[in-house]
Amino acid sequence: MHATIDQNHSPWILECAEGTPATALLGPCRADVVVVGGGLTGLSTAWHLSERFPERRIVVLEAHAVGNGASGRNGGQILNWINGASDDDPERIQRIHAVTRRGIDLGESLAAACGVKEAFSREGCLEVYTSAKRAEHAAERVEQLSKLDIPLEWIAADRLGFKGAYGAVADPLAGRLNSLALLHAMKKVLLARGVAVHENSAVTRIDEGREIRVSTHGGEVRAATLVLATNGYTPLLGRFRHGLLPMQARNVATEPLDEALWNELGWAGRLGFSDDFDRIAYGCRTAAGRVVFGGGGNFAYAYPYGGKLLPDASDRREERYYTAVEARLRHYFPGLPQRLIKHRWSGVLGVTLDRVCTMGIGGEHGNVLHALGYSGHGLALALLAGCVLTDLYADNHAPWRDLPFYQRRLLPIPPEPLRWTGYQVYTRLTGRSPRRG
Ligand SMILES: Cc1cc2nc3c(=O)[nH]c(=O)nc-3n(C[C@H](O)[C@H](O)[C@H](O)COP(=O)(O)OP(=O)(O)OC[C@H]3O[C@@H](n4cnc5c(N)ncnc54)[C@H](O)[C@@H]3O)c2cc1C
Repeated sequence: MHATIDQNHSPWILECAEGTPATALLGPCRADVVVVGGGLTGLSTAWHLSERFPERRIVVLEAHAVGNGASGRNGGQILNWINGASDDDPERIQRIHAVTRRGIDLGESLAAACGVKEAFSREGCLEVYTSAKRAEHAAERVEQLSKLDIPLEWIAADRLGFKGAYGAVADPLAGRLNSLALLHAMKKVLLARGVAVHENSAVTRIDEGREIRVSTHGGEVRAATLVLATNGYTPLLGRFRHGLLPMQARNVATEPLDEALWNELGWAGRLGFSDDFDRIAYGCRTAAGRVVFGGGGNFAYAYPYGGKLLPDASDRREERYYTAVEARLRHYFPGLPQRLIKHRWSGVLGVTLDRVCTMGIGGEHGNVLHALGYSGHGLALALLAGCVLTDLYADNHAPWRDLPFYQRRLLPIPPEPLRWTGYQVYTRLTGRSPRRG
């Protein structure tokens, strides 16, 4: 039985210092910038804005508690590259690698600045290959990228400990982030800086204008600039409906495993990993020694009709899906006893048709900033978004113009009922297909 399932929370919360909830927004107020969403995108943007413009009044509105979204429920791997953006041009490859590396470095420096160094670790992450042909290609790519000074390492199957693997690419610059612990710590620093962070303050309405009016049940903020930092939830606010698919991902985790069991599992270096399928399986070892695992097939992902939220992980209707995720975890690590798997939860992803995210500025009056659509690969990018959006706010577009996410117009996804039907057909046809690029 899953004794610790509690209202769909991830076990990252068990590895965070206890925090004090911020007050809800009550009554009207004015601000220079209002940020909607208290995940990595929202708090990183508030962080960089408040550093660069200490005199401006910044308000953050979070529907529940910071990290309620994907930022508090993810697989914990902070990775290089931009999902969906493959390129053959050596300079562009280096450029994309450099900016995403900056996002990872930001995870490290923010954790240190907020006094939660242990929330970040740069142990490296693996991309595991499960066919001889794909492994051969991947090993060649490691060679090519090393000529561009991108330091990857090919790890042979016998050093891996993954059942069915033909080898893996290790990225030593990638790592693990307990982003919930980071967000709790960032919230504290932001409040001390004078940023007004309000939790339990769901935005119910946005009226655009030269002055934007953002309403919650308890209050209202009037601000010159709005930051949409609601990723997969954004269509519920009536924005980016055409281009963003709010998909949900199911995850499981074990209780902390002892060293003897970790040794028995033989999981190489205990690094985070993902496999080479389109519906990737991914996992990592938390600081306390838990295995966090997700993906592995269609059963791990869902798009409920109309973008509704999934039932709670403890709901009977969800049982078979979580059982399948657990079976996938034990497929890779048959030595892991089922009884040690103790947590189940889901989180909302913002997925775009080509899986590339968008960061930019728009709206009827050119005062709405957004960063969203990371398609399940967002820890480094959501942190980076804070730098990007702060530059765009300062009208400094030059550093970002050449990047695939800059002012990217999302490809349209058909509305319902075609959307739901298309999702079912596409996923059934491609459920076990290898990852592209
Ligand atoms: C199961 C899972 C595993 C993942 N694993 C990885 C991984 O290993 N590596 C990786 O790089 N990425 C991973 N991701 C993706 C990554 O977590 C996200 O891309 C990233 O956290 C997005 O951050 P965000 O701040 O933009 O969005 P979110 O974290 O979703 O934050 C949006 C916030 O907006 C709030 N909100 C929504 N509506 C309103 C409203 N009306 N008013 C006020 N607030 C509102 C929500 O409560 C939420 O807190 C994973 C995602 C999931 C779901």
